[in-house]
Amino acid sequence: MAQEDVFKKLVSHCKEYGFVFPSSDIYDGLAAVYDYGQMGAELKNNIKKYWWDSMVLLHSNVTGIDSSIFMHPTIWKASGHVDAFNDPLIDNKDSKKRYRADVLIEDQIAKYDDKINKEVAKAAKRFGDSFDEEKFRATNPRVIEHQEKRDALHERYKKAMNDNDLESLKQIIVDEKIVDPVSGTDHWTDVRQFNLMFSTEMGSTADGAMKIYLRPETAQGIFVNFLNVQKTGRMKIPFGIAQIGKAFRNEIVARQFIFRMREFEQMEMEFFCRPGEEMKWFEMWKATRIKWHKALGFGDDHYRFHDHEKLAHYANAATDIEFLMPFGFKEVEGIHSRTDFDLSQHEKYCGKSIKYYDPELGESYTPYCVETSIGLDRMFLSVISASYTEEQLEKGETRVVLKLPAPLAPVKLAVLPLVKKDGLPEVAQRIVDDLKFHFNCQYDEKDSIGKRYRRQDAIGTPYCVTVDHDTLNDNCVTLRNRDTMQQERVPIAELNNMIADKVSIVSLLKKLV
Ligand code: ATP
Repeated sequence: MAQEDVFKKLVSHCKEYGFVFPSSDIYDGLAAVYDYGQMGAELKNNIKKYWWDSMVLLHSNVTGIDSSIFMHPTIWKASGHVDAFNDPLIDNKDSKKRYRADVLIEDQIAKYDDKINKEVAKAAKRFGDSFDEEKFRATNPRVIEHQEKRDALHERYKKAMNDNDLESLKQIIVDEKIVDPVSGTDHWTDVRQFNLMFSTEMGSTADGAMKIYLRPETAQGIFVNFLNVQKTGRMKIPFGIAQIGKAFRNEIVARQFIFRMREFEQMEMEFFCRPGEEMKWFEMWKATRIKWHKALGFGDDHYRFHDHEKLAHYANAATDIEFLMPFGFKEVEGIHSRTDFDLSQHEKYCGKSIKYYDPELGESYTPYCVETSIGLDRMFLSVISASYTEEQLEKGETRVVLKLPAPLAPVKLAVLPLVKKDGLPEVAQRIVDDLKFHFNCQYDEKDSIGKRYRRQDAIGTPYCVTVDHDTLNDNCVTLRNRDTMQQERVPIAELNNMIADKVSIVSLLKKLV
């Protein structure tokens, strides 16, 4: 099935089973804003817990805060967001659609990569075991031609972005004959800068209301609390501050479901260190974060690092962790070495010292900072898209199953009485009442057992137990495994022991140490 079709199915699956709804659905939705339903909220909470515990429990020198969304407007002047948090946008005059110029060009670069990869794949098939990929890439005339075009485009693009040269970005789009996917034409406007921050007013207009911004990242709430946390927590460098919270960006092109939203959630950690030691910590956090992703077991080939072409105004090193989504490798997390930019800027704008006295060195300095910043919604999308599976069963049957890592699954155990009578519902309900303190259980008595299994598969429940007439005599139930569909007879008294560890976040955390 084409990847686009898989993605469409995934989006409707998310709605049908209560994971993600369009916001304001009964009013036909609001562009690029989504609500999480009864299953989605559970999955999201589990991802949050996995991240928070991996940061705050596993690192004695990382601590967490929860800062407000509204902040003093000067913060955004100091951070550079008022002047530089822009995207280059371009409109197509025929379709009236708006695009990010950088995204159009990056898509064009990806097209050259696709062409090269197709040539390589074709040759690999033709030559079989004797295929020498490196030699083929270096000598095949078609590959060389594509590669040269790609590299030249890449160089021009990098320079235009670094110089903030909007005219050159437009010229690249013209020269590459990039057309609007909707109208198919190249009638483009000039490229303009567009600030992504939402603003609103605080206080009544009679008092002279203040223009404030909805935060476009949670990080600044950490920087402005650096001294509060350091002093009250008696933290010694190096140490980190973690935070999970909402962020808002007026994205020009909001596409691909929850991948790019206007209201979203971030999980960010700022790690403060001695100046000059930031590269060591940058490498350490790169390794730590990729391990966190890979521990979910979707396969190491689903991840790659992508170093930034254009460093943000605050960074001296930056890389993205990209995940193989149904629409290609896409950024899920950014790891940035932000130097002392943010703390120095706040020091300048607030007029107070934000220095740290290092007792070991006997001197004061402005700490350097390495940031790990992951979008919770993008993480959610990567988890659910990697888990979504359509399986062919015997007798021409199919099933849709979400092969979610058990610790992230919204419901861990479904308890199903075989029939709605003969005392079986009461036994099933007692099992739920016993186990509900340990993990999320769901009782379901409606429809045939087969249908109930399918419903649980569709929401990714790793275990189901069926209570039947034998249960009344032997106190045993049939435990069914979601992935293997194998069933075994187990004593009710053993259920907690058999399931609790496997569905606990602790089982994931143990893979990280
Ligand atoms: P992009 O290049 O995709 O716009 P970015 O590089 O601007 O992303 P960062 O500012 O580094 O993103 O933000 C850190 C993380 O926050 C991203 O890796 C992503 O997971 C998440 N994120 C950023 N913007 C959005 C958005 N509009 N919707 C959902 N998640 C987002």
